[in-house]
Amino acid sequence: MAERGVEKLVIVGGGTAGWITAAAFARLLGQRLTIELVESDAIGTIGVGEATIPQIIRLNTILGLDEHEFLQRASGTYKLGIEFVDWGRISSRYLHTFGDTGMNLGNVAFHHYWRRSVMGEASPAAGGLWHYSLHQLAADQARFGKLDRVGNTAMAGLAYAYHFDASRYALHLRDYAEARGVTRTEGMVESVERDGASGDITAITLDDGRRVAGDFFVDCTGFRALLLGGALGVGYQDWSHWLPCDRALAVPSERLPTLVPFTRATAKSAGWQWRIPLQHRTGNGHVYASGFTDDNAAADTLLAGLDTKPLDDPRPIHFTTGRRDTFWAQNCAAIGLSSGFLEPLESTSIHLIQSHVSRLIQLFPRSKNAAAERAEYNRRCMAEFDQIRDFLILHYHRTDRDDTEFWRYCKHMAVPDSVTHKLELFAASGRVGRDADDLFREASWVQVMLGQGIMPADYDPMADQIAPAQLEEFLANLRNVIEHSVAGLPSHADYLQRHCLADSGSTPA
Ligand SMILES: Cc1cc2nc3c(=O)[nH]c(=O)nc-3n(C[C@H](O)[C@H](O)[C@H](O)COP(=O)(O)OP(=O)(O)OC[C@H]3O[C@@H](n4cnc5c(N)ncnc54)[C@H](O)[C@@H]3O)c2cc1C
Repeated sequence: MAERGVEKLVIVGGGTAGWITAAAFARLLGQRLTIELVESDAIGTIGVGEATIPQIIRLNTILGLDEHEFLQRASGTYKLGIEFVDWGRISSRYLHTFGDTGMNLGNVAFHHYWRRSVMGEASPAAGGLWHYSLHQLAADQARFGKLDRVGNTAMAGLAYAYHFDASRYALHLRDYAEARGVTRTEGMVESVERDGASGDITAITLDDGRRVAGDFFVDCTGFRALLLGGALGVGYQDWSHWLPCDRALAVPSERLPTLVPFTRATAKSAGWQWRIPLQHRTGNGHVYASGFTDDNAAADTLLAGLDTKPLDDPRPIHFTTGRRDTFWAQNCAAIGLSSGFLEPLESTSIHLIQSHVSRLIQLFPRSKNAAAERAEYNRRCMAEFDQIRDFLILHYHRTDRDDTEFWRYCKHMAVPDSVTHKLELFAASGRVGRDADDLFREASWVQVMLGQGIMPADYDPMADQIAPAQLEEFLANLRNVIEHSVAGLPSHADYLQRHCLADSGSTPA
């Protein structure tokens, strides 16, 4: 008898990971697969995860979601980047923007021309790199609008992502998935059945005795990792020696008087604090290392650092940074927090969910014999995790701060060779040693390395090809055209008011 192919997909868990997985599979493989999602209201979801990066637009486009409608429903705002305060040293501040700074000329990245100018050949008033950032100027003035190009130059316009209420986003995706045939089963998973011969998962059993069978399982059970970690015993690589924060306290507060289009990440004595502006409230949290502070002190730090009145008590969350040894084993893939967690500093978790889902769909097998697809999936997911890990380590490790035990630890800790190589290369010549498929573009590495305090000793000699007067004129023109473009944008609040005012929101300020 021919072996049964993969016909039934079971997704276990209904947080952001579960419902993104369900929506994407329903959209792209819904004609072929029967899809059932099992979740437990009694357990609930992690309830954080409100800041995203621009890649989320790809997911929304694939799903065909209307941007304004989903932002309205999820009380969302626009995000142009993350402002890092007190990271490289106390009183420092920089924006890691989603866009380029300035404009590349020929094959040479803009920051090399800028570096040349501040070495003294062009205008001494050249200013910092962010002087030539469209995103920085728009963020400073709390403006937002859709802009594909800067004036009639070749300079790209505003790249953006979103802040949103994660539980409302998951509900939106749940409606989407259910409308496309996904069945939702409410219940608590109690045990997992495996085939004695192959080791594959055959079914899960709920606490009331119901049995949900399937051909392929996606573990979206959050930090519990019930299937991949629990039933299949796949190990976890602990990266807390590089990313030492292991706890967070989250608290909502009243909405900001001015809805700025960026996340703020403020370094604290043993971690950092996020501030995420939504239309109806502000999301806040203090991420910290329990080895360097205690929970009471961390709560005091969080509350003292709020810009608006808290709306609840701080809620604790524990985690271990790292990832699973493999992401797909037997007939089960882990997506979301069950696959690993790299801490929220660069808002990469929701991105990892969508990138894992799209990779799984690209490699999804018709038959149960999927060893080759599984190997490729694991190879690519591991590389992606490792690249993001390096980018996060950079923020902690490249600092002049030595005012607390935590920062002294971060500054002197041993880091992966891949991080050391990037730091040395940039410090020497302003060049970026990133992998071609790295999530973070050259512009991101440049902004964070400069922002953290590395000033390259030199620049690309190809940037010498224009005369000093031309360089000066080029820089002045760039600044003018950026100022002109930003002046034409509406305020962020006006844009939201006009296009996606939240159902529960009063007029954004
Ligand atoms: C402090 C913190 C801040 C974060 N901030 C960001 C951010 O700004 N941006 C970002 O992109 N990401 C962020 N993240 C990550 C983000 O929250 C998660 O990636 C995202 O919410 C997905 O979570 P999940 O669906 O994997 O898990 P969860 O939300 O935990 O969902 C798990 C699901 O599994 C179900 N479940 C568990 N056990 C059982 C069982 N026995 N039976 C039945 N169902 C079960 C639960 O009911 C739930 O539905 C943050 C994470 C943390 C910890």
